[in-house]
Amino acid sequence: GYQFQNWAKTYGCCPEMYFQPTSVEEVREVLTLARQQNKRVKVVGGGHSPSDIACTDGFMIHLGKMNRVLQVDKEKQQVTVEAGILLAELHPQLDKHGLALSNLGAVSEVTAAGVIGSGTHNTGIKHGILATQVVALTLMTADGTILECSKSINPEVFQAARVHLGCLGVILTVTLQCVPQFHLLETSFPSTLKEVLDNLDSHLKKSEYFRFLWFPHSENVSIIYQDHTNKAPSSSTSWFWDYAIGFYLLEFLLWTSTFLPCLVGWINRFFFWLLFTRKKENSHLSHKIFTYECRFKQHVQDWAIPREKTKEALMELKAMLENHPKVVAHYPVEVRFARGDDILLSPCFQRDSCYMNIIMYRPYGKDVPRLDYWLAYETIMKKFGGRPHWAKAHNCTRKDFEKMYPAFPKFCAIREKLDPTGMFLNPYLEKVFY
Ligand SMILES: Cc1cc2nc3c(=O)[nH]c(=O)nc-3n(C[C@H](O)[C@H](O)[C@H](O)COP(=O)(O)OP(=O)(O)OC[C@H]3O[C@@H](n4cnc5c(N)ncnc54)[C@H](O)[C@@H]3O)c2cc1C
Repeated sequence: GYQFQNWAKTYGCCPEMYFQPTSVEEVREVLTLARQQNKRVKVVGGGHSPSDIACTDGFMIHLGKMNRVLQVDKEKQQVTVEAGILLAELHPQLDKHGLALSNLGAVSEVTAAGVIGSGTHNTGIKHGILATQVVALTLMTADGTILECSKSINPEVFQAARVHLGCLGVILTVTLQCVPQFHLLETSFPSTLKEVLDNLDSHLKKSEYFRFLWFPHSENVSIIYQDHTNKAPSSSTSWFWDYAIGFYLLEFLLWTSTFLPCLVGWINRFFFWLLFTRKKENSHLSHKIFTYECRFKQHVQDWAIPREKTKEALMELKAMLENHPKVVAHYPVEVRFARGDDILLSPCFQRDSCYMNIIMYRPYGKDVPRLDYWLAYETIMKKFGGRPHWAKAHNCTRKDFEKMYPAFPKFCAIREKLDPTGMFLNPYLEKVFY
């Protein structure tokens, strides 16, 4: 049988049957078969979620063959795509039409339905999570009905279905609001945690897509500004620094530190000094700047807290590491921002948010103990009203989500109506809804 593994090889499953439908009719046939045999169904996109959200031991549907651009509305600057399209496949087509998505996550080997369904985000306080770019979508519900939804058609379902967790049905098409194609200039420069936290508002004002990286066990910060530019594409990256040092040497040292954990603080400071103390500039088409090559397999957590809590929460994370020298944290802690929205299960529901992504690499595939770090982080995030990223592993259950999301009951009611038998559930989703 087919074996599924997510990108980071941290979660996997053996679905009983694996389908790659080429048409809406074939999708409906899979659902019919599932109903007849009382099987569960999970659609997988790019398989990039660092959790078991896309796993199933029932039927797995992969929409890689339903990846066409269906319509480009030049006037409204909107594009309708089949849900299985990878963003990497979409970008060149948008380029041809002089269009672009206004914001993207770090990778493009992910699908239109997958990124919206898990609440994928980037940074920029004027920009919402990626799902806020959706203006309409269609989904096939458990009984084979096709439901269109948008602000004006089935608005209640639309408010739920943009961050759908894969539990409302099979997303078939997505219509995205685009913007005219643009270039970005990325400038990164060193700073300190105190400076960046004291001047957060001014950084957020200064750069449209501002984020920063904090190097745990130190005061070091790398600030990254990305802004519209007319400059010709240019790059200051080099194979030697990026690969030989930033990847091969780092992976080796991280592996060494699995025997000598006290090395981690030193590694974080050393690599900051080596790679992040010079000001760097790159410019290119927006999607080439937003995305970068993630070379390391890794464990991550990424919670959204109210934006005003950024400083307090980070200071507490720092204090926790100082008070518990045995807890080690790989670099970076990546801090990003997103505008509030009205999508029922968006971590940014009704509030501007700060996302704080923590990471533990798996050098040569080796897991590094992380449970103490993970637990301390979750405790701090919860204390500040945090909501976990849906794609990324967390330990929350229904009780937590009821507290976190004012509209949780509303989403549950919609889910139970669209999928009364729980066809689209899996163990991850059972923890969320049961
Ligand atoms: C290297 C790397 C970098 C990343 N960078 C970022 C980042 O910058 N920001 C961020 O927020 N996240 C980031 N992520 C997380 C990633 O964006 C999400 O996991 C995203 O969901 C991946 O999309 P996918 O197509 O691989 O979805 P999958 O992981 O395949 O699926 C995600 C969910 O969507 C559902 N689904 C997919 N397609 C359909 C469909 N057609 N119908 C119904 N349900 C469907 C699945 O069932 C599942 O519940 C990163 C992940 C990796 C590995």
